[in-house]
Amino acid sequence: MKTNQLPPAIDRLISAAADLLLGASCPGCGTPGWAVCQNCLALLPDGARRVRRPALPGLPDAMVCGTYTEPLSRLLISHKDEGSWQLAGLLGALLARAVAGLGAGPGVVLVPVPSDRAAVRRRGYDHARALAGVAGRELGLAVRPVLGRGRAASDQVGRNRLARLDAQAGTMDAEPGSLAVVVVDDIITTGSTAAEACRALRASGHRVTGLAAICETPRWGESGE
Ligand SMILES: [Zn+2]
Repeated sequence: MKTNQLPPAIDRLISAAADLLLGASCPGCGTPGWAVCQNCLALLPDGARRVRRPALPGLPDAMVCGTYTEPLSRLLISHKDEGSWQLAGLLGALLARAVAGLGAGPGVVLVPVPSDRAAVRRRGYDHARALAGVAGRELGLAVRPVLGRGRAASDQVGRNRLARLDAQAGTMDAEPGSLAVVVVDDIITTGSTAAEACRALRASGHRVTGLAAICETPRWGESGE
């Protein structure tokens, strides 16, 4: 049986085993080693701050740990697309710090922005749910994945932020309820995905108290932290 005929989860396990046998490297910088190297750990953001990009309509108070620059960007890609599931602990702890920065109290639940279903099937892993789970455990908050994706967003290439918000509108739905919610995601880019998540939650009766993500993409001309 060829490897590419295996289910994605098994395929990833085989890749991980091969890494162990053939040599591993830091997912942040590629230096040989068994985990994220000390250099990369030292370069990770050590606090939480409010997002710097201008707010989109409908977005609540929003906190991130830092900017989407290396090595954090490499770690996020490695976790999301390259099967480095062991990074969920490190990245989920960063997400927890952003949630804590909102001052989210007891009774608040974390709701992950839903990943694209086809992407989850391809990867065999729902990275957003995994990160929310780690952050929830760390803070003693429940995680409720009540958001789902309905129709696909139309093509975002070449659209400005407001046009992207329009393209996202109506793409998500939420189970009805009256939860006090912090929406969590890994990266805030334009904010249009998070804004759609907030819209869907409010439309189903929930109260959105904040948005937390590990990082936001740099604004144009911004060189990083
Ligand atoms: Zn490194």
